[in-house]
Amino acid sequence: MSLQFDSNITAFAKVAANLWTNWRTLASVARCNALEIAIKARVQFMPPITYQQYHSNQLGSFGWTSLNSWTIGYNAYHSQFPNIPLALWMEWVMTLYHESRHAEQIYRVAQGVFSGIITFPTQDLMKTMQAVMAGKGARAIRQAFETKNPFEAVDRTTRREVVRKWCRLDPGTGVPEHAEIHRSYFANFLAASPPPWFDKYHRRHDKVKNAVIDWMKSTHDHHLGELSREAQRNAGQSSGYGRFYENLAEEVDAYGIEGVLKGKILGLIGKTMPAKVNWGTPLNQQGDAAATPP
Ligand SMILES: [Zn+2]
Repeated sequence: MSLQFDSNITAFAKVAANLWTNWRTLASVARCNALEIAIKARVQFMPPITYQQYHSNQLGSFGWTSLNSWTIGYNAYHSQFPNIPLALWMEWVMTLYHESRHAEQIYRVAQGVFSGIITFPTQDLMKTMQAVMAGKGARAIRQAFETKNPFEAVDRTTRREVVRKWCRLDPGTGVPEHAEIHRSYFANFLAASPPPWFDKYHRRHDKVKNAVIDWMKSTHDHHLGELSREAQRNAGQSSGYGRFYENLAEEVDAYGIEGVLKGKILGLIGKTMPAKVNWGTPLNQQGDAAATPP
C-alpha cells in the first residue's frame, strides 16, 4: 500500500466526490469527519498520523504539518460554508492527501534504510551517528566506523535512534520502529510501476528508488513538510521562493500526486478545472460567483 498507488488515490477521490455531492446536506462536523475517515483509511500502512483541526478565517490557510510529531493540522473553518467555491474546497480536500504524502516520504526513507536498499550518504551518516553514539564509548564508535556500513554494524536501538535523528522525529512517534518491522514491504513499493509524475526522474534508471534517495537527502537538509500549506500557496504565487519550493523533490512529488487526485475528483463530479478563487474576498464572503456544491 502507498499513497501513490492508483487504487488508493481513486478510493480517496470517490469519498471526496461523495462529500462534494452531499456537502449541503451535511453538518460542518460531518463534513470534517468524512474527510478524516477518508484519509485515515488511506494511510493505514504507516503508524497512525494525528489529524488535528484548527479554525482560522484567514483565506488560504489550509493546513500545517508537524512531521516530527507525526501530526497534520487542517483548517476546519472551511467546513462551515454551504456555498464553498469548488476551487477552495478542492484545495482544502487535497491538503490532507498532500501533507500525508510528506509523511509517507519520511516513512519510505526509514523503511528503505532498514531494508538495506537505501544507504545514508557516508559523511552525513557519520555526523548523525557520532551524535547518537556519544554516550556509548570510543571503542564502540570506532568499531562501527571501521566497517563498510556503520549503520548496519550497530545494534537495533542505535539504528532506530539514527533514523529518528536523521528524520527529526520526536521520540515516541513510533515511526522508526514501525518502518523497521515492515522493512520487507519496501521491495513491494519499489516493484510497483512508477506513477506518471516520476517521469521527472526519467533519465535515471531506477525512478522510485532515486525518488526516495532524493527525499532522504532533503530530510537531512531541511525538515520535510515543515512549511504550512498557506506558506506554500503564497510562495507559489511569487517568483523567487515559489520556484524554490516547487523544485524541491518532495514538493514535485506531493504536487504530482495532487494533480492525479484532482483529475479523478473532477471526473467523478463532472466538472472541469474549478473557477479561480478570488483571493481578495474574505472566506465567509466567497461563493456563488464560482462553482459551488450542488
Ligand atoms: Zn508540501
